[in-house]
Amino acid sequence: MPSPLDILNSVFGFPAFRGQQAEVISHVVAGGDALVLMPTGAGKSLCYQVPALCRSGVAVVVSPLIALMQNQVEALGQLGVRAAALNSARSFAEAGTIERRMRAGELDLVYVAPERLVTPGFLALLDTCRIALFAIDEAHCVSQWGHDFRPEYLQLALLRERFPAVPCVALTATADGPTRRDIVERLGLGDGRVFVAGFDRPNIRYRIAAKKNTREQLLRFLDAEHGGAGGDSGIVYCLSRAKVEETAAWLEEKGFAALAYHAGMDQAKRAANQERFLREDGVVMVATIAFGMGIDKPDVRFVAHLDLPKSLEAYYQETGRAGRDGLPANAWMAYGLEDVAKLGQFIAGSQASEAQKRIERLKLNALLGLCETTRCRRQVLLEYFGETGADPCGNCDTCLEPIASFDGTELARKALSCVYRTGESFGAGHVIDVLLGRDNDKIRRFGHHALSTFGIGTELSAEEWRSVLRQLVAAGLLSIDVEGHGAFRLTETCRPVLRGEVRVDLRRDPRPAGKAARGTKAKHSAQLATPDDEALFQRLRAERLALAKAQGVPPYVILHDATLADIARRRPRRSDELIGIAGLGDIKRERYGTVLLATVKAFEAEAGPSTAS
Ligand code: ADP
Ligand code: ZN
Repeated sequence: MPSPLDILNSVFGFPAFRGQQAEVISHVVAGGDALVLMPTGAGKSLCYQVPALCRSGVAVVVSPLIALMQNQVEALGQLGVRAAALNSARSFAEAGTIERRMRAGELDLVYVAPERLVTPGFLALLDTCRIALFAIDEAHCVSQWGHDFRPEYLQLALLRERFPAVPCVALTATADGPTRRDIVERLGLGDGRVFVAGFDRPNIRYRIAAKKNTREQLLRFLDAEHGGAGGDSGIVYCLSRAKVEETAAWLEEKGFAALAYHAGMDQAKRAANQERFLREDGVVMVATIAFGMGIDKPDVRFVAHLDLPKSLEAYYQETGRAGRDGLPANAWMAYGLEDVAKLGQFIAGSQASEAQKRIERLKLNALLGLCETTRCRRQVLLEYFGETGADPCGNCDTCLEPIASFDGTELARKALSCVYRTGESFGAGHVIDVLLGRDNDKIRRFGHHALSTFGIGTELSAEEWRSVLRQLVAAGLLSIDVEGHGAFRLTETCRPVLRGEVRVDLRRDPRPAGKAARGTKAKHSAQLATPDDEALFQRLRAERLALAKAQGVPPYVILHDATLADIARRRPRRSDELIGIAGLGDIKRERYGTVLLATVKAFEAEAGPSTAS
């Protein structure tokens, strides 16, 4: 039997296991059951794919989405692994061939939907096969506590009873405590081990900016960090369908390969756009949250939010679609008080029970806390998921440009009294006009120029007052009255502040437009040291795209960006110099080695000897 490390080196072309992979794999290879919790991009698939190749027989992988199965099968095929998917997309004849190959021991892995697995026909087929293991992907679907319950997963409990000698590994990226216990119980994994990796995604850089001119801010971000039009691929999330369409059209005008995706579009158009996003390089998908589930494209380099997500969980999940390949990626968000008002209105207007609405408001507040924190954003995020004690990360905006806080009690009192004096009936715009002592129709109509708070806030600009007001909302001193057109209301907690009994710390916002982007510029795509390496990398990507098109598969199925970057850095000239390049296993080296070497050679010949290192 080949060792797991041999398989990792020769088939997958990776030098070493990551995190808990080695432990999980040796446990499963030895026949043990396991529940594996790892964040997106940590490498869950290898936890069953390597054991599938070490143990004899076929591994049966349960997966809820046909698109995901298809991707995995294509990627495995590229590695020379014998894999197939049995689902409703297969014809009767195709299914028959797969079943015959399973019985003959000619398949290493077979992917199957849960509802098919539990049919009497399929179970009878399994009785005639040698089974290496069962893997249950997206295992949180078995739990009612999880966020995506699927009743057909419940029947998977029968696997443990019917095939007690076959090891079973369940995998998921998102499951809190109760969900985990539920999974173990429902799948009958009681004697198995639970492996939990942390939630951290260290390669994602978190950044949250105050909304000013959102589109221009987005454009600056894309230009500065992602090569502008024709650069990296990424996702831009918007709250409404209309905004998705507008933003996509606007980006297209600016020269981006931008596509739209939302639930209001017809099915065929949606599928076509998703397909282009997966198969072409450098596409920007502008979408509502309808997009993303089951997208395992590894080289999504950024996720931008133009509107606030609903909760920290949603933020974590949506930003988590960036950088699955482990290379640097950006999570960038612009937010303003109007978002808070809008989400508040959604909650108020929904059909949910009062208790449910209360929870949703708390979740929204936790997200505001992340937006307005002066601490490391990653620390705040991880603490929300129960991981305490992490050091400041050095890879978020507040770490990169530390935010000074100062005693803002006086400013807070001015703002709060102004809200009080104007009758708790106005939003940020008007309150700021009063603070600044501006003269306009609305001020005069309401007689607000006569208030004691008129013009008491001239030490700050309007923009700085906006920041103060946001922070007062995040701190719970002000609330936004969602029925009253977004007017500020004072809360109980602001009384001691008004009386001067409690100190309020505020952040000194260091972020004039565009500054956050400067000095923290992430390299385009793959962190290459010189423009020359970058040029070769782009050339290799073009070659890869041609190969992908010829085979009708997404480019990352052929080779990952990390692999191309490694080649651009190392400049191999002979085929033995390709050994040890990350992600280039035996079969891929055989298939693509010649093209890769030729590309490097042609590039160096053109560049001339002076630039060859
Ligand atoms: P998950 O399912 O946990 O989101 P995947 O299994 O898709 O993650 O793996 C994420 C990426 O990490 C893939 O591109 C995979 O090839 C890569 N990867 C996984 N394990 C390793 C490893 N040991 N060394 C290098 N790359 C790895
Ligand atoms: Zn940080």
